[in-house]
Amino acid sequence: MAATAAPYLAGLNPAQREAVEALDGSVLMLAGAGTGKTKALTTRIVHLLATGKARPNEILAVTFTNKAAREMKDRVGRLLGQAVEGMPWLGTFHAICVRLLRRHAELAGLKTNFTILDTDDQLRLLRQVVLAHNIDEKRWPPRMLASIIDGWKNRALTPETVPTSDHGAYDHKGVELYAEYQARLRTLNAVDFGDLLLHVIKIFQEHEDVLEQYRRWFRYILVDEYQDTNVAQYLWLRLLAGGHRNICCVGDDDQSIYGWRGAEVGNILRFEQDFPGAKVIRLEQNYRSTGHILGAASGVIAANKGRLGKTLWTDGEDGEKVRLIGHWDGEEEARWIGDEIEAMQGGTRGMEPVSLDHIAILVRASHQMRAFEDRFLTIGLPYRVIGGPRFYERMEIRDAMAYFRLAVSPDDDLAFERVVNTPKRGLGDKAQQKIQIAARTNGVSLHEGARLVVAMKGITGKGLAALKELVEGIDRWHGQVRAEADTHVELAEMILDESGYTGMWQNDKTPEAPGRLENLKELVKALEEFENLQGFLEHVSLIMDNESDGDGEKVSIMTLHAAKGLEFPAVFLPGWEDGLFPSQRSMDENGLKGLEEERRLAYVGITRAERLCTISFAANRRVYGQWQSAMPSRFIDELLANHVEVLTPPGLYGGGYGAAGMAATASPVLSGMQGSDLHDRAAEANVYNSPGWRRLQARSGERPMRQPQEAKNMVIDLDAVSAFSEGDRVFHQKFGYGEVIAIEGDKLNIEFDKAGSKKVVARFIVAADT
Ligand code: ATP
Ligand code: MG
Repeated sequence: MAATAAPYLAGLNPAQREAVEALDGSVLMLAGAGTGKTKALTTRIVHLLATGKARPNEILAVTFTNKAAREMKDRVGRLLGQAVEGMPWLGTFHAICVRLLRRHAELAGLKTNFTILDTDDQLRLLRQVVLAHNIDEKRWPPRMLASIIDGWKNRALTPETVPTSDHGAYDHKGVELYAEYQARLRTLNAVDFGDLLLHVIKIFQEHEDVLEQYRRWFRYILVDEYQDTNVAQYLWLRLLAGGHRNICCVGDDDQSIYGWRGAEVGNILRFEQDFPGAKVIRLEQNYRSTGHILGAASGVIAANKGRLGKTLWTDGEDGEKVRLIGHWDGEEEARWIGDEIEAMQGGTRGMEPVSLDHIAILVRASHQMRAFEDRFLTIGLPYRVIGGPRFYERMEIRDAMAYFRLAVSPDDDLAFERVVNTPKRGLGDKAQQKIQIAARTNGVSLHEGARLVVAMKGITGKGLAALKELVEGIDRWHGQVRAEADTHVELAEMILDESGYTGMWQNDKTPEAPGRLENLKELVKALEEFENLQGFLEHVSLIMDNESDGDGEKVSIMTLHAAKGLEFPAVFLPGWEDGLFPSQRSMDENGLKGLEEERRLAYVGITRAERLCTISFAANRRVYGQWQSAMPSRFIDELLANHVEVLTPPGLYGGGYGAAGMAATASPVLSGMQGSDLHDRAAEANVYNSPGWRRLQARSGERPMRQPQEAKNMVIDLDAVSAFSEGDRVFHQKFGYGEVIAIEGDKLNIEFDKAGSKKVVARFIVAADT
């Protein structure tokens, strides 16, 4: 066989090679992270092509993301030594189903040019359906119906097949509304995401000739990340593979992280039943990560019950231990990681310089990204956010900012347009047109136009009262901004409250709503760093403007979910605090099951790292201006201590580790990290001589902020505001050196040498060494 000598087979281990060469029949590759499942799958495609078993368009290969599909195509090309012509059927379930549905649209009662609704369109349509049924949309938000229907679609349930146990959904009207929604979609010649699969399944079930055609056509089927397929995807695959059974699925039960979206890890366990005689191949050698990283990851996942159980080993070096570091708060964490990355980029720490492309920050919740984005924009560290918009581009953030802009400048028409009917105030297109006309004919802003419409009662009913309230609200907020109330953070909260914007998301029962509320809290938190609303708005417009979308090296920031299947030489895992990670919501909603899914997420996170993995937590997070102390994540205790090196935090505000410090007492990993000796250790460990610290100093162009021997004296007790007196020389991270002019509670009035006079919170100040 010529293929045995093929160079692309050369590097594979025997188990991988078996998986690659067993072309006919069913194969399940069940193996832990980094064992080369995706590599084997890719090589299998190459082997199919090289041996002439299949042409590119006869292979159906399903990946989890479009990015993964592109990468797989590239890798196939590289291994084959030539670019692959075609491979039209390599893609995500959705992408492949769009293609199939376009070809057979008429069988689903659609025209070929059907439109695919995005989430917003879907909601709008559902709302029409709900309103047509005289349902109180406050009690039964359309978003709730949307997530119920999505859930059914994930389980491949049509209105006819929803089980009776689900008939109580949405005030017993769910199924009826689902049917009507589907009917409207058909009239509109439209589908939503869930329909893409559902329609194709239905076509296959009802038209055997079509199914047969594709069974012949797709001679080989390959599926990556099989553990995260939902029921609909599973049925679709089973239909297509039902003839020849040439299907190869690869997955890892320990990496099943989409249960909340209907994924069924049971699909893996059922594989051997569905495809009797399937070859099950286990891979155990990990090629991605060092020994310590693997050891730490294995320790965490071992705490889950009901695993299939796998051993993982590497013959690579142990490498550096997983680094664990606690910080005072989230901003400090972001600052430290930024410095670390710059140091790595510069090639310190005894390592070769690391390209920013090789560094990733993986967060549990997308609101965590804000602190990093702000910090990186401030220090000019290029980054990209993968799998979602950047923080300040998110819908709820833009809405909130529009309200802030109106408070600062009521004549900001773009902002007015954005929020005039968000939340819904009964100000539809017609009402908005009237405002536009009033503004245009009188040559005034929309806000003033609206005032005229109110005065002339230009609109009627509910809308009129709501518009009056909005116009007056803007006046009031603006008044407050002008009065220079020094509580701009409170003002921001008040605006979001009084406008009904926060309430809109609080009443929203969809899965995304809590995340949006968290983002809003995070926005308010960002405000605290600024003197007033205006300053903050300027900051945001500046950083948004500064964005270079160039192709240079960039740090990747993404959620743990989006990181699946990827690998990076260096990975930062911030925010390991109970409640944040594991996520409280996940535990509240799904109990132990939720906790175990969180733990798998932790496993996914650690196993993304090739050489350097850094886990961090903050002892305090600020939520709505309140400090909340946080406990280190329980997952930290599950990391095996011998694979972990505990780093000493910079200790700026040491002595106050509070809950974290207490938890540390009981934790084998954290012992030695307790608050009391924190700054002593910081001084001992010479953190102030660390490259990151030195770079920080060098960059600031200022005198070194601290020397190691002074470190202890520099630590300011949080409560000891009296540590400062008028006339003291002080230093502030952002404003530099200055002199205390007056003291009001925990706030200091400081005349900064360069930045002028400012009021700042005492805890952000350190005494300047004179
Ligand atoms: P995950 O579960 O995270 O998706 P995986 O099992 O799909 O991981 P791959 O991404 O295929 O793992 O492989 C992990 C890394 O190991 C890749 O960099 C890959 O190139 C490398 N690798 C895989 N198999 C081998 C091998 N036999 N020899 C050398 N390197 C290998
Ligand atoms: Mg993979």
